[in-house]
Amino acid sequence: MTALPPLREVIARHGLSATKALGQNFLLDEQLLDRIAAIPGSLEGQDVLEVGPGPGGLTRALLRAGANVTAIEMDRRCLPALAELEAAFPGKLKVIEGDALKIDPATLFDGPYHIVSNLPYNVGTVLFTGWLSGETWPPQWASLTLMFQEEVARRIVSEPDTSAYGRLAVLAQWRSKAKLAMKVHRSAFTPPPKVMSAIVHVEPATAPAGVSMRMLERLTEAAFGQRRKMLRQSVKGLPGALLALETLGIDPQRRAETLSIDEFVAVARALTAP
Ligand code: SAM
Repeated sequence: MTALPPLREVIARHGLSATKALGQNFLLDEQLLDRIAAIPGSLEGQDVLEVGPGPGGLTRALLRAGANVTAIEMDRRCLPALAELEAAFPGKLKVIEGDALKIDPATLFDGPYHIVSNLPYNVGTVLFTGWLSGETWPPQWASLTLMFQEEVARRIVSEPDTSAYGRLAVLAQWRSKAKLAMKVHRSAFTPPPKVMSAIVHVEPATAPAGVSMRMLERLTEAAFGQRRKMLRQSVKGLPGALLALETLGIDPQRRAETLSIDEFVAVARALTAP
């Protein structure tokens, strides 16, 4: 491996001034980047998808960890810098110019892959919910290691009876294990964003039987759409929901945020049943 120039030099040489519209906040501390790349466990010989490599800081760390990286970047200004990385790690990095929202990762890999990314904040939640929403489980991805605004990360790993608990928590936890892997101070980024960040690590778990993803989505949408209301009000538009609550012995006077994920799953199962 050729010695790589410092990231600051790469950014200056290629004129990669950060663009807010593309959610660009770059990480330049190589030790921090190596710690992030270690979160999924050994990546030696593993396929990894990185969304938004930018100047390539995290990409380098993933390559140093021995991963085969496929990276999707929308900002073509970054491509020459990434081409230098491709040359430094022959055959280990493939860069695709494009919008990650429009590319199905299943078309990029034959087998399992990890997703590791310092996500652009403006599209991070949409990508994350998309990766978690397939009807087929387990998914093709083996793990997700993703940087979010800390407030979003806390919603993903939150527990019932907290203000952070909502649809994102149910989606992330009903058939996956989601944990807060690392907090990252705003000063670690160039330029620093206004808020703190955190990395969430998600691994697929066994999906509860007999539950349609779509039905769980409809249920949580209704229940948390009016989270201050009692369930008897918030889910009454969902056919069969009130009866399901009664059958399962769930008090309809409760509010959505008091229901455990198992309870949401049980109601969705009752509604999914043929
Ligand atoms: N990985 C780099 C790092 O950690 O320093 C950059 C992270 S920066 C927060 C987000 C990156 O995502 C930027 O390079 C930006 O151009 C890219 N990006 C933004 N929207 C994108 C999209 N829809 N598809 C692919 N890349 C995108």
